[in-house]
Amino acid sequence: MREAIALARANIDAGGRPFGAVLVRDGEVIARAVNRIHETGDPTAHAELLAIREAARALGSPRLDGCVIYASGHPCPMCLAAMHLCGIEAVYYAYSNEEGEPYGLSTAAVYAQMARPPQQQSLPVRILMPDGEAGLYEAWQHGRG
Ligand SMILES: [Zn+2]
Repeated sequence: MREAIALARANIDAGGRPFGAVLVRDGEVIARAVNRIHETGDPTAHAELLAIREAARALGSPRLDGCVIYASGHPCPMCLAAMHLCGIEAVYYAYSNEEGEPYGLSTAAVYAQMARPPQQQSLPVRILMPDGEAGLYEAWQHGRG
């Protein structure tokens, strides 16, 4: 965790946001990353997500079962969802959303939105299935034999 925080501190000096993440498996560091939004313009360039991408490349697998992430700040819903999707075993964070709130670094509002039923969220999520477009998943299943 100290390394994740050190990465976050160094990222401030580099002009970035104060977030770092270290991904570990069996006591070995697989990936380290910092928030890179400032240099990439990519709004998804969060430290945890970049650490997951780097670890998947390093391990040659999209599955990261048994891996643990140490993040300097509370993971946002996007990163937390990515952790669920790839099998991260646990995540530890040092700074809470409450501590980030005064600095605009909290994602508590996004968590609050996502805790609401889809029809009540501020971002509309609606089904839109054009005529004649059925069968996509069946085609995939069939293509896999
Ligand atoms: Zn995130």
